[in-house]
Amino acid sequence: MSTFDENTANAEKFLARFKANTTGHHINGQPYLPADSKTYINVTPSDNSSLGDVVIGTAADVDLACEAAEKAFPAWRDMPGAERKKLLNHFADKIVERADEIALVESMDCGQPIRFMKQAAIRGAANFRFFADKAPEAQNGQALHQDEHTNFTMRTPMGPVGIITPWNTPFMLATWKIAPALAAGCTIVHKPAELTPLTGMLLAEIAREAGIPDGVWNTVNGFGEVAGKRLTEHPAIKAIALVGEGATGSHIMRQGAETLKRVHFELGGKNPVIVFDDADFDRALDAVVFMIYSLNGQRCTSSSRLLIQNGIKEKFLAALEKRVQNLKVGHPLDPSTEVGPLVHTGHFEKVMSYMDIAKDDGATIAVGGERRTDLGAGNYVAPTLFTDANNSMRIAQEEIFGPVLTAIPFDTEEQAISIANDTIYGLSGYIWTNDTGRAMRMAKHVEAGMLWVNSENNRNLPSPFGGVKMSGIGRDGGDYSFDFYMETKNVCIAHGTHKVPVLGR
Ligand code: NAD
Repeated sequence: MSTFDENTANAEKFLARFKANTTGHHINGQPYLPADSKTYINVTPSDNSSLGDVVIGTAADVDLACEAAEKAFPAWRDMPGAERKKLLNHFADKIVERADEIALVESMDCGQPIRFMKQAAIRGAANFRFFADKAPEAQNGQALHQDEHTNFTMRTPMGPVGIITPWNTPFMLATWKIAPALAAGCTIVHKPAELTPLTGMLLAEIAREAGIPDGVWNTVNGFGEVAGKRLTEHPAIKAIALVGEGATGSHIMRQGAETLKRVHFELGGKNPVIVFDDADFDRALDAVVFMIYSLNGQRCTSSSRLLIQNGIKEKFLAALEKRVQNLKVGHPLDPSTEVGPLVHTGHFEKVMSYMDIAKDDGATIAVGGERRTDLGAGNYVAPTLFTDANNSMRIAQEEIFGPVLTAIPFDTEEQAISIANDTIYGLSGYIWTNDTGRAMRMAKHVEAGMLWVNSENNRNLPSPFGGVKMSGIGRDGGDYSFDFYMETKNVCIAHGTHKVPVLGR
């Protein structure tokens, strides 16, 4: 593993081009910077210094990208699946070749520790390989027989689609959404989060190098309210896949109403991890710590509510406090860092505001609760644990999206279910028990799109990923992704034996 100094030197090398040149868009296979464009300064959360200027995309820029995606669509749709498979696998190879660059740029742009970002490029490539291999079968359907007719279904790609991604793990999430769209035969316009535009540009650049045809992959930078909005309104765009906040999903539904956009939303969560008295104590403790303090707590599936059964509460919380105190907060490029700086000063202020909210509501700040001023000008929050909390407090109801955990005690299985479900969200849940029957009952009653029993978040690419309630609409993964990006057509063929109704003979 590289040292902090090596990482810093390499990151400087890879970031130099972004610092020296304004980052523009990528449209129709080319970098594109409109002559009269306005820009904003993109900063690194490590010390809030500049990583360079980025274009503020306009509606006209988005229109150009959508037109390019529309023009490229017929040829991409008609390309044999086996060829798309080859191209997308080649693209995955190119991601792996640039894995170090991607990891370092990502880490500096979004503040995620390098220990986690090292895997981001590899996981991104794996996302592409998985869907690339499925490209030849994407059009497959069902055969549905009747006595005198045979129906069969086939799937066809919808057309150009818009993909709007957030800042928490920008590279991995972009690949997760874009790979199935391209494998299905859709062309794309990608709008990365304004706070973390850099690896989105690397992806578009790699697409060009890998030989993905011009116009198939377009990237437009800028703000959600302008560039994102126009993308969701553009008539050429047939569907919008958003990963982001619930409020953004509501905006997009309204914005896309005129053109009847199909939407797929992966939104926020306030996910419970429920630890019963009979759980494997050490494994549960490891998972509880990992699922809220990894990725800076800026993770949609983070378990931000710990529901702890009263029989082990004292012992578990004591062990947890020690672990939280021990977490290594630091610079994102330091390989020993476990918790890095939060993405932006605005988000940092939001997370810090919950320290006062917790006190006002009567909770105890058992660990953390303050800024790590010793780490300089970056957005460093001490990993925080709230205890003496109940589920009606704002710290138990609102998505804080930082390294902040709220612990809530319970006595019975019924209470655990009731607390777990007492939220507007329903993305994921984690159940720790050695009683299989109880695990099954909990799995049935906890309202969430995804539940893990005796495990942290383990991703299986063919499995459905998504949320219920305010956590989302739709599922990703395997064939679920193709169902979103494709239309299903039914073809009904008569056997020539049935009686055709006769009128006016
Ligand atoms: P956000 O909703 O503020 O922004 C997401 C994207 O939407 C950005 O690219 C932004 O520019 C764009 N956008 C904003 N307003 C828009 C509009 N009116 N029209 C079109 N686009 C618009 O989210 P964020 O703050 O970047 O990310 C954090 C959120 O994402 C959290 O709520 C987190 O839980 C969620 N998230 C969910 C998942 C999941 O899989 N469920 C995964 C990661 C993050």
